[in-house]
Amino acid sequence: MDAKRLGRLHDLGITPWVARQGARPPAQREARAVTIQAPVPLSMSVPTAVAADERAAAVAAMDWAALKSAVKDCTACGLRDGCTQTVFGVGDEQARWFIIGEAPGADEDRQGEPFVGRAGQLLNSMIAAMGMKREQVYIANVLKCRPPGNRDPKPEEAELCRPFLERQIALIKPKIILAVGRIAAQNLLHTDVTIGRLRGTVHRLGSVPLVVTYHPAYLLRSPSEKRKAWADLKLAMRTAGANP
Ligand code: URA
Repeated sequence: MDAKRLGRLHDLGITPWVARQGARPPAQREARAVTIQAPVPLSMSVPTAVAADERAAAVAAMDWAALKSAVKDCTACGLRDGCTQTVFGVGDEQARWFIIGEAPGADEDRQGEPFVGRAGQLLNSMIAAMGMKREQVYIANVLKCRPPGNRDPKPEEAELCRPFLERQIALIKPKIILAVGRIAAQNLLHTDVTIGRLRGTVHRLGSVPLVVTYHPAYLLRSPSEKRKAWADLKLAMRTAGANP
């Protein structure tokens, strides 16, 4: 490990010890990904499972431009009224790594970019400790709008926002997903298993391997857990390396 990398780990506080009826399968949807001609109104409320399915299918056919504008215009869950702007995601749209957090906080809501506050600075250090730059990965959240007072996302909000995240994953085709924090991990994996038990295992989201680690905001409060987070990052690096 070179001196620069050791320095970054030190910054991190770590001493290294050397479907529905008629729906096309996702693969076909991917092959036909184009800007849709007659978009389903994404801002509509979603009263039925069929309408939710149709909305998800419309999102699953979008290209980047259509997806960005659909997120910007979305009012499906009601959070948009209380936030400054949507926070779509940032980074390399062909990244190998997709890092997924919970929801924008106050700083992210103001700047329109995920993980820009103190937790974001620690996330940047974690990325650097793995030998990458923030611009080389893709970063987004389960929710694109800030919940009031930074409360936890409600399950129905996460579900309404999920097609957007799933489309981001499908377009990026990452080699690894790193879920940061309990809320992101439980929402992505549709489970209520504790983060302590979700860590240390390689899960799958569709065909993409997914590793769970602690949220950087938690690590700021509990720095002694950084060692465990570094173990998670090493698992994720090994998994990404094994998925060329
Ligand atoms: N916490 C998150 O989960 N996401 C952000 O974008 C910022 C803080």
